[in-house]
Amino acid sequence: MDLKLTLYGLDLEEAETFAKAGKVPAYRGRQLLEWLYKKHIASLEEAVNLPREFRDSLSAHYDLAGLSFDEAGRLTGLESTKFLFKTRDGHLLESVLIVQKDRKTVCVSTQLGCKIGCPFCASGQGKFIRNLTAGEIIEQVVWIEKQIKVRVTNVVFMGMGEPLDNFEATMKTLKILQAVWGLEIGARHITVSTAGLTPKIVEFVSRSEGRVRLSISLHSSNDETRNELVPINRKYSLKELMETLKKIHRDLKREITFEYTLIPGVNDSNKEAAGLVRLAKTLDTKVNLIPCNPIRESQFKSPTPEIMEHFRSVLLKQGIRATIRQTAGRDIRAACGQLRLDKLQ
Ligand code: SAH
Repeated sequence: MDLKLTLYGLDLEEAETFAKAGKVPAYRGRQLLEWLYKKHIASLEEAVNLPREFRDSLSAHYDLAGLSFDEAGRLTGLESTKFLFKTRDGHLLESVLIVQKDRKTVCVSTQLGCKIGCPFCASGQGKFIRNLTAGEIIEQVVWIEKQIKVRVTNVVFMGMGEPLDNFEATMKTLKILQAVWGLEIGARHITVSTAGLTPKIVEFVSRSEGRVRLSISLHSSNDETRNELVPINRKYSLKELMETLKKIHRDLKREITFEYTLIPGVNDSNKEAAGLVRLAKTLDTKVNLIPCNPIRESQFKSPTPEIMEHFRSVLLKQGIRATIRQTAGRDIRAACGQLRLDKLQ
């Protein structure tokens, strides 16, 4: 299906260029973006200060939005709310809002499905459909902000998909999120999580000028286990990944976080912990431990709180900063790794 471009997803340069091409002053482009990213309009009719002809030519070339929000698909859990969106080509996708005191974090999806295929993650179980556009990624934040009527303070690229495998759309979304003409969310409040696409990490760091937070899904400290848990490791081994990260850490003094999903009997041994300590020390990395959230396609179990605490204490004793990520969202199947392509359950 050939879809029109959408206004959501435009950056300042594109909006101004479109205005000028239609012989409209460039500042109209900036005004348009204000309606989109500050006021979250659902129809161009709401953009009352834009000349009628400009609105008409915008409508002729663009759709306003790429996603529609389905109120019936909003699911509120104890600490998080799951939002269901529909793309113009008929796919469903989910995003999660996590509220912790003053912090309102939106966890965005970047792809319909995922090509990485980690066996413990629901997102990669079905077939991969397509990348989301920058508009479709930014709209997840915009529509949630509109629904909750307060500013979103943080964005994490930890929903469905691998952000660095949808590189240009991710970079453009980051630009819109941070821009003064966009959502004005500071880089330190944005985290991109990756399974470890080494060359893309390098490019990401240089293009984001080292400010957006970077989180690496490690999940094992040896290649044998990581090859199984994060199959991209067969292409970009731990050695290559670590060398890249070391360079980034050394040259840019960037803080990097490891995510480590703990799966009993798979990656929770003392040997794994010792390996993780070694890797974390070389980069002065913080480790975020995530209890494995069960998904129906796999036999992987959840760790008990004791297993989580034990593993954490081994890290802490060795001077590694380690936190346990709460399992917000499990009650509504919105916890890490539980987002999937369809409303199947
Ligand atoms: N593709 C990105 C974003 C994935 S989601 C990445 O790999 O980093 C964010 C985190 O949740 C990743 O660390 C991912 O491995 C983890 N995760 C996926 N499925 C999970 C599950 N069932 N239980 C716990 N964590 C999971």
